[in-house]
Amino acid sequence: MTIKFPLVIDGQWRAGSSNESQAVLNPATGESLGLVAHATLADLDEALAAATRGMREWQVVSPWERGTILKKAADILRANIDSAARTITLEQGKPLAESKGEVGRSADFLEWGGEQARRISGRFLRGRDTGHRIEIETHPVGVVAAFTPWNFPMALAAKKFAGALGAGCSIICKPSEETPGSVLVLAKALLDAGVPPAAIGVVFGRPDEISSYLIPAPAVAKVTFTGSIPVGKLLAATAGKAMKPVTMELGGHAPTIVCADVDPEKVADFLAKAKFTNAGQICLSPTRFFVEESVRERFTTRLAQHAKAWRVGDGLDPQTQMGPLANERRVHAMSHLVDDTLGKGGKVAAGGQRIGDRGFFFAPTVLAHVPDDAEILRSEPFGPVVPVLGFTDEDAMLSLANGLEFGLSGYVFTNDASRQQRIKDSLHFGTVGVNDVATHIPEVPLGGWKESGYGTEGGIEILEPYQKTKFLSIR
Ligand code: NAD
Repeated sequence: MTIKFPLVIDGQWRAGSSNESQAVLNPATGESLGLVAHATLADLDEALAAATRGMREWQVVSPWERGTILKKAADILRANIDSAARTITLEQGKPLAESKGEVGRSADFLEWGGEQARRISGRFLRGRDTGHRIEIETHPVGVVAAFTPWNFPMALAAKKFAGALGAGCSIICKPSEETPGSVLVLAKALLDAGVPPAAIGVVFGRPDEISSYLIPAPAVAKVTFTGSIPVGKLLAATAGKAMKPVTMELGGHAPTIVCADVDPEKVADFLAKAKFTNAGQICLSPTRFFVEESVRERFTTRLAQHAKAWRVGDGLDPQTQMGPLANERRVHAMSHLVDDTLGKGGKVAAGGQRIGDRGFFFAPTVLAHVPDDAEILRSEPFGPVVPVLGFTDEDAMLSLANGLEFGLSGYVFTNDASRQQRIKDSLHFGTVGVNDVATHIPEVPLGGWKESGYGTEGGIEILEPYQKTKFLSIR
């Protein structure tokens, strides 16, 4: 059987040495798009040896030139936006327009990482007495092991490539086996732009086997992961045992507070779009809706109208507003959360079930009268299901909003300036939207508080997770 989605090791696009593989499914049809190669431990050893060599080659390329190469890779992605977007839609499911947005965002991240590379500098301080000088140098941290998920398969990998390569590190990425093509497109753009072949590795296989081999490997100096909190904790513990720094971008469960002074229909219009983008499979997605009691009914009715009218279908169809879920696990997770809510006395205001038996479609769903003990109020849905809760007491609502282990994002909708100030200051999250739902753009550092992660990605500090400093004391 031929491999459609190969490993990339030292510039070679190839099958794993054991010829193991797995099928990649189109979530809109459930049919196979082709096989993705699995790496053996021997393949991983080759990837590590190449990355060690790639590190030596790439770190001596001047930061200015690294910036030129990353900008060129961004331009290659932009020039191939149609085919790159098709790759994302076919394997991940989102509508083509969203996939194009993701390709554009990936290019923006690469360009931004390259721009920041050109600004790498050190510091000079006068010592405490004459004849003493102090210099602080910035160095690339070393070979990076990156683990990236399936929800934004290209953009979430692009962020890590941009930071690592911008800083002068080589990188081995293990993307999700469910969406391998998107990272292969990214890797090809980077190699075509001139990144040395040894500096970029892409490997697939059994995720736990790969992470438990790569993270402790002496060649690896830094670990970065985007995914769920339980897997993040596992990888952080493995890295901790080997004293390796980690960046963790983990899940969220965003309280979305709608106050009575806003137009509830207008806010429902805005939030329907934000919520059903990428079928709700976004770590920053609005997920726990706290609506002030006096406007709750109007808000819920309008949101339910949107959910019922939302056009769900194959992402390749230009009419589609929401594609399938990316994998069957999410469909089962949605059914479970809905059944749990109904079993405890909640009501379905819209949707509530799987659509059809072909592909992984689930109806945009609004849950009303959600009981306090419903699982959806504690577990991140990561799908197109919205629980709406009423509130009358702001302090009690805020303690629920802040009451989970998640600290990724929270949102408040109010035009009352003092309420905006009070609520935004009270929300314990790394990202807070005021009359807005945030998306990740390269110019901002995104990071979770509490169990939603360590460190940030993006912003003027995009290279920092991939750098170490050297203090020179000179006489
Ligand atoms: P998951 O955490 O099992 O998988 C997420 C990613 O991690 C996948 O790419 C997977 O291949 C990889 N992974 C899993 N186990 C691994 C291991 N031991 N070593 C290395 N990599 C490993 O979750 P899932 O079932 O794919 O998705 C469900 C949950 O993941 C969601 O509920 C959501 O909370 C979370 N998630 C978050 C993000 C995010 O952007 N923060 C993205 C995707 C998934």
